[in-house]
Amino acid sequence: AQEALLHSQKLEAVGQLVSGMAHDFNNVLAAIVGAFDLVRRRPDEPERVRRYAEAGLEAAERGAKLTAQLLAFARAQRIQLTPLIVCDIIRPLHNLLARTLGPMIRLDFALNPHPVPVLADATQVEMMVLNLAINARDAMPNGGTLTVSTTVRNISGHPEVDDGEYVEIAVGDTGAGMDETTLRRAMEPFFTTKPIGKGTGLGLAQIYGSARQAGGTVHIDSTLGQGTTVRVLMPCTDEEPNDPVQAVTPVDIAGT
Ligand code: ADP
Repeated sequence: AQEALLHSQKLEAVGQLVSGMAHDFNNVLAAIVGAFDLVRRRPDEPERVRRYAEAGLEAAERGAKLTAQLLAFARAQRIQLTPLIVCDIIRPLHNLLARTLGPMIRLDFALNPHPVPVLADATQVEMMVLNLAINARDAMPNGGTLTVSTTVRNISGHPEVDDGEYVEIAVGDTGAGMDETTLRRAMEPFFTTKPIGKGTGLGLAQIYGSARQAGGTVHIDSTLGQGTTVRVLMPCTDEEPNDPVQAVTPVDIAGT
């Protein structure tokens, strides 16, 4: 628990730092984009110069994407826990996930229809699944299968979380797997084995931080050369999920 606290404090500090830097960096990028765009549009500049400007613009846009990711990470440090049915959040992601994974990767959904609400942040659950799917895709360059499943589990005597019922979101792949060091360090902020510009090393750290904030945790099972399954545990709640349909004042159809 001490270690988890340290982790979340570290994550919060990193979040603040990152958000400040990302904002400043965005201003710099906006200036760069503006300048390159100007050159690119000048018909009196030689073709070669306009091509350089084009390349500069593309690089700046990649930079902007990265800062957007960093800002999303910093924002994720502020969350709102509400009772929700995890399957209802994950099910609509199917098409987006299928598109993200591409034609080489099979996508299997095994969502437990048992509607047990958990206390979680809907946007964070979406982010978790999406980030895990992207990691899985990166681990399966030659294709494979991604399985997204949800299960209700009873946990007791766990070193990190209270005894009780949890919904487990498991995202499994048939990809490269992790070596021992990677498995041990995967959830550390900024730990990445990916090249600069591709990985930030914040994905799993963020997922772990979110799960801990919700009173849950994350487990990773991985075998080198066989694949990886990341399991996110979220505590169940007795609270009823807000039904957006019922939240609307009922309309009297008969008009009486
Ligand atoms: P990033 O993806 O930006 O590197 P993460 O925190 O999401 O950051 O992941 C950290 C590292 O853990 C990755 O660089 C990779 O080495 C390893 N990893 C994460 N997910 C998987 C996976 N599904 N299969 C194999 N390795 C993974």
